[in-house]
Amino acid sequence: MNIVLLGAPGAGKGTQAAFLEGKYGLVHISTGDIFRANIKGGTPIGKVAKSYIDAGKLVPDEVTCEIVKNRLEEDDVKAGFMLDGFPRNLFQAQQLDEFARVDACVNISVDTALLMDRICGRRVCSCGASYHISTLGGKTTCDKCGRPLYQRADDNPETVGARLETYNTQTAPLIDYYAAQGKLLTVECGNASPEEVFAMICEKLDNFNK
Ligand code: AMP
Repeated sequence: MNIVLLGAPGAGKGTQAAFLEGKYGLVHISTGDIFRANIKGGTPIGKVAKSYIDAGKLVPDEVTCEIVKNRLEEDDVKAGFMLDGFPRNLFQAQQLDEFARVDACVNISVDTALLMDRICGRRVCSCGASYHISTLGGKTTCDKCGRPLYQRADDNPETVGARLETYNTQTAPLIDYYAAQGKLLTVECGNASPEEVFAMICEKLDNFNK
């Protein structure tokens, strides 16, 4: 099964991807994580990506599509993959349809009024775990691996505004794109916990695959 995870910044795509990886054994591919690793490593891709990410804009399609295409040619994805953060516009979605098969698009729908607080309060770990400062009680290390938590460079109010705008104008149209293909599974999160959202996603996926 090959899945696209869709959702605004802060919707919880990374958290749900980690749950889904555990349950279905799908390979988690996050373009944001790939860019951050390249920035940290000082690679040419990282140098290009940084200015766009800092501005809350999309990294150019030719760079992003090439990275994903190459990644999907690796052997481990044959058992199924989950794309987190790709595609992010119609062009990328059309390109993806050229080089891979997408079975379902899981759309994690969150009230946009909640997103700014969620993202600006987010603290992450290099192991992939994600927390919110309101539940950390002052803790600065990861419950899962003990490493120090940090705030992503683009999780600040100025950049978040631009990222939400980018999502609304460029990424949200993908909801209709996948609906038209009969592949859209939308989960309305409301006030549900990450575990409850995960249960809703599993139910939709399991029914979809029957
Ligand atoms: P994310 O971790 O998914 O929130 O991505 C962080 C940033 O990386 C985004 O705000 C974009 O600047 C960039 N990025 C991630 N995925 C893509 C993509 N598919 N296309 C273009 N830029 C992307």
